[in-house]
Amino acid sequence: MKEPHIPSINLSRLLREGGSTDARDEILEYIALQEERIPLEGPAKWKVSVTRLEGEGGQEFWLSGEIAGNAMLECRRCLTPTPTPVRAHFQYLLRYEAGLQQLEVIEEGEEEILLFGHPDLDLVPLLSEAFALELPYTTLCKEDCKGLCPVCGANLNEVDCGHHPKPQTKLGAELSRLLGDLD
Ligand SMILES: [Zn+2]
Ligand SMILES: [Zn+2]
Repeated sequence: MKEPHIPSINLSRLLREGGSTDARDEILEYIALQEERIPLEGPAKWKVSVTRLEGEGGQEFWLSGEIAGNAMLECRRCLTPTPTPVRAHFQYLLRYEAGLQQLEVIEEGEEEILLFGHPDLDLVPLLSEAFALELPYTTLCKEDCKGLCPVCGANLNEVDCGHHPKPQTKLGAELSRLLGDLD
């Protein structure tokens, strides 16, 4: 068993000497957002590299990274958890502000700057946000998923429950045809 640990990158050496550093690892089981978790099938792999920028007193850095994994999303028709590939790239301008407790985003002119106060930079918020932004709105377990029976809720990919709901009115029939086309 691999010990779960918090994704981070240590920038102590960069703060002292400049240059670049990188880190890579995997996130297991789920991507944690503030209010929810996105379950994963298999590990989500990430890598991040950081370079100190010249000037600005050596307190500014350019970070770029990517994360890729399979999110388990519910099929929009039958609700079966379905592995859905997600790949995200992200970039940040970072500035070190000793003593700052939490990551903070500020705007200076046109630029967004991410402030951090600990040389061991917590990557969880960056990785999670990037991953969540690339999630598709919906997914299908397969192109021709038959969905759930509106009468008994059976998964029609797995069983034929024998219900054949018929729209009662001409308008109903027309509506379900239109909705069927949209689906
Ligand atoms: Zn489905
Ligand atoms: Zn049924």
